[in-house]
This record gives sequence, structure tokens and C-alpha cells, in this order.
Amino acid sequence: MADNSALPLIVLSEQFAKLPGIGMKTAQRLAYAVMSMSEDDAKQFADAIISVKTDVGYCKICQNLTEFEVCPICSDDRREQSVICVVETPKDVTAFERTNEYSGTYHVLHGLLSPINGVGPDDIRIKELLDRVNNGEVTEIIMATNPTVEGEATAMYIARLLKPLGIKVTRLAFGIPVGGHLEYADEVTLFKALENRSEM
Ligand SMILES: [Zn+2]
Repeated sequence: MADNSALPLIVLSEQFAKLPGIGMKTAQRLAYAVMSMSEDDAKQFADAIISVKTDVGYCKICQNLTEFEVCPICSDDRREQSVICVVETPKDVTAFERTNEYSGTYHVLHGLLSPINGVGPDDIRIKELLDRVNNGEVTEIIMATNPTVEGEATAMYIARLLKPLGIKVTRLAFGIPVGGHLEYADEVTLFKALENRSEM
């Protein structure tokens, strides 16, 4: 932003530029777009940002983001509560839900094991998954982490923990390209990966 811009516009641009995929130029455009909003619209916009931080928490069962104590999927008795699809992020849940083919539940790890980056088992939601397995009547765990080095390592690690408990652990079949990301896979590819999953 040119040096002669009003300070609040510069500050807002810098905030937008913190978002992924937003460069300084786009950030400036967005700041000017906010500037041209009505005061009411600008307030709503600001409130929406605050609201995701204050009103959204983790489902106490699956750890997905939700504004409820238990998310709509975990509280839906038409879903197979005994089948758990383990994913890395909430975005992966959205991707599977788009297929309209999966009727089980999820568990969101919020990360993958990555010794190089100092991410160990206690840094992601593995304990919560084990608690679910120990407390409930889980029949199958589908490891649906991305087919990356860290995704594979995490799937293997969790499978090793679950096997002794007599739980069937399966892995997605990868029509999904190795190194690829689930959230970008189309619905058919994702459905096929789920349908052709194999036991670990
Ligand atoms: Zn849930």
C-alpha cells in the first residue's frame, strides 16, 4: 500500500496478508473493499471473525470443530457410530461428507506425526481416539490420513496401537496420488478410495 494510505487501511491490509494465499496486493484490495462496505456490513464481518474464535470449539467425541458440545455427526443415530474414519483436519471431514457415501463417524487428529518438526503422539488427538475405542463399541477404524510420508507414518503408528485391541484397522485405497491431499480429491476418487480400503 502506498505510504500515503490512511494508517487503518494499512493495518487492515497487513491483517488480510496474514491469511493463506493472500499477497500484499490482494490484501490491499480487500482492505479497500471493507472500506467501501456499509458500517453495518463491516460490523457483521468483524463479528463473524470474532465468532469463529469464541463460538467454535472441539466436539468432545470426534474433535471436529463445532459450535456444539457434541457435533451433529456424532449425535446422529443414523450414522454408524462403530465405524471411525481418522483424518488429519476438519477440511478432510468436509471432503468425505461431500461424497454422500460415508455413513460412519470421524476422528480429527489436528495434525500428523512429524518427528522432524517436533510433533509427537501427544501433540495430536491420538489419546482421544484411544479413549473412544476403549469406551465404545468400535468395530472398524479407517485410517484416512493423506498419502504423504507423515500421513503414512501416522497411520502406521495408530494401527500398531489399535491392533492389540482387536480392532479392524483399514487404510484408504489410493487412487489418490501419493503426496496428494484428500481435500482436493474429487468425490468419485474419494468414494473409490473409501470403498476399496484394505486391512492394515
Ligand atoms: Zn463429533
